[in-house]
Amino acid sequence: MKNSVGETTLAKGADAETSVQPPHVLTRSRLDVRDQFPIFAIHPNLVYLDSAATSQKPQRVIDRLARFYAGENANIHRGVYALSAEATATYDSARAAVARFIGAALPDEVIFTRGTTESINLVAQSWGRSVVKPGDEIVVTEMEHHSNWVPWQMLADSTGAVLRMAPVTEAGELDMSAMARLVTPRTRLVAVTHLSNVLGTINPVRRITDLAHAAGALVLVDGAQSVAHGAVDVRDLGCDFFAFSGHKLFGPTGIGVLYGREALLEEMPPWQGGGGMIGTVALDGITWAEVPMKFEAGTPAVADAVALAEAIAFVESVGAEAIVTHEAELLSLATERLSAIPGVRLIGTAAHRASVISFTLEGVHPHDLGTVLDEAGIAIRAGHHCAQPLMRRFGLAATARASFSVYNTPDDVEALGRGIERARALFS
Ligand code: PMP
Repeated sequence: MKNSVGETTLAKGADAETSVQPPHVLTRSRLDVRDQFPIFAIHPNLVYLDSAATSQKPQRVIDRLARFYAGENANIHRGVYALSAEATATYDSARAAVARFIGAALPDEVIFTRGTTESINLVAQSWGRSVVKPGDEIVVTEMEHHSNWVPWQMLADSTGAVLRMAPVTEAGELDMSAMARLVTPRTRLVAVTHLSNVLGTINPVRRITDLAHAAGALVLVDGAQSVAHGAVDVRDLGCDFFAFSGHKLFGPTGIGVLYGREALLEEMPPWQGGGGMIGTVALDGITWAEVPMKFEAGTPAVADAVALAEAIAFVESVGAEAIVTHEAELLSLATERLSAIPGVRLIGTAAHRASVISFTLEGVHPHDLGTVLDEAGIAIRAGHHCAQPLMRRFGLAATARASFSVYNTPDDVEALGRGIERARALFS
């Protein structure tokens, strides 16, 4: 286990000492990073509260992308000339940076994908189709994003396996006793989000991996929301697979990561065929490249991987503990401010949560609320957040959602509070 509060908090989820809790004594320990994000200079009135959808990008990431294309661009692996060899080395070092960042044992346990969605589909297609048999069970949770639900339902449909769902409590926590009952020797995989994109709940992943492994099942963790909000250590979590997207971690779109334990990746067949993923090709048979190349058919997103490594360097320069403290303070402030507005109902009041607050406002549709807020330059998200089973659980079609990141300030929270009050007055 790592030694900072932030790292421990996110890695251990509900096992941790504390995440967001009263008393609401706000130290206003603002991070001083907002100036590194050019979007706020270009849009000085923007109150950006949609980082759960995608994060804004620091200048150094934008510059890194441009620098690669300007002076380092070449295709990797197949080149015999210096520029290609250097691009290959830079791409490889990006893989090593990701491995270090998430605590993987080896760089080769990191596969570059297009994002969380593709990472999960890779596992469902490759591992799933080769391992899952009729009557096997896959357990998801009621709070999963469709990305960590649909690929498993598709797999169940095509293999004759059964999809099971661990329910969520009224507070927005995973019902762990139900989870314990659902995981049986029939379970092949538990697919769980680390941090809910709707509720902000931090799930007790370590307890889930212990439970699943005891039953002989694997665990895939959807880390799309967690990686940018505190340190993640895949070996502390004990998971078999971990998926995340670069664009929620201050990096570019179009790049993501699948972490998989080496022994599993070795066993898994490729899921896409093409250049770069083969050893030899002949009419009478094909051999595969080694892991991770076996899973990276075609030209990868080289520049985006390099810029993702730069985004990781940015996160490391801020520090996981500082990020957790800052965002916990904003979430605490937002919880207090929004709870005090008549008609606001918070969706998700888990003891351990981070960076996301979902709510409804009585008499105002979340889309209307989003529009009124937008008029004041406040960007939130309204809708089902790709989590329809969870919406059904709470008897809702949609919620409004504000989400925080390193560049947000208490003033942003206050602007949100005022905006909601304005909407309330307009619609009353
Ligand atoms: N899982 C969760 C929890 C998410 O919040 C998201 C993005 N909203 C995804 C998966 C999918 O990520 P991407 O669209 O980058 O593949």
